[in-house]
Amino acid sequence: MEAEALLKDKGLRATPHRVALLAALYASSRPVSAEEMHKKISGADLVTIYRNLQSLAAHGLAREVRFKDSTVRYEAAGLHHHHLVCTTCGIVDELPECDIHLLEKEVLKKSDTFASIDEHQLEFFGTCTVCAKR
Ligand SMILES: [Zn+2]
Ligand SMILES: [Zn+2]
Ligand SMILES: [Zn+2]
Repeated sequence: MEAEALLKDKGLRATPHRVALLAALYASSRPVSAEEMHKKISGADLVTIYRNLQSLAAHGLAREVRFKDSTVRYEAAGLHHHHLVCTTCGIVDELPECDIHLLEKEVLKKSDTFASIDEHQLEFFGTCTVCAKR
């Protein structure tokens, strides 16, 4: 769906800035921070970008991703997946498959307190092949 239609579908006003932001998010192959978006999109200040990214996340159009640093990154909401991050250069691999739902059942079995597990977050950290050669 077009960015404009997605926004209207969620009851958000399709301002040029929001349309550009959402389109850039969907075009990106990895999670991006507000600062990185600020460099990509002209004509909007950083505070507006922060606010609009939060609003996209609140409306289910974007997903917050947190790695080990304090930066909050965003990516297009889509299929559930995980990331592999190089701790040296920060390159990110998108991992499309998730087999962890099987583990959820095991975790739940071990708990007397919980009736269900609704979601999980997990990122992997390591060294990419380029950094490994340095
Ligand atoms: Zn690396
Ligand atoms: Zn991702
Ligand atoms: Zn998963």
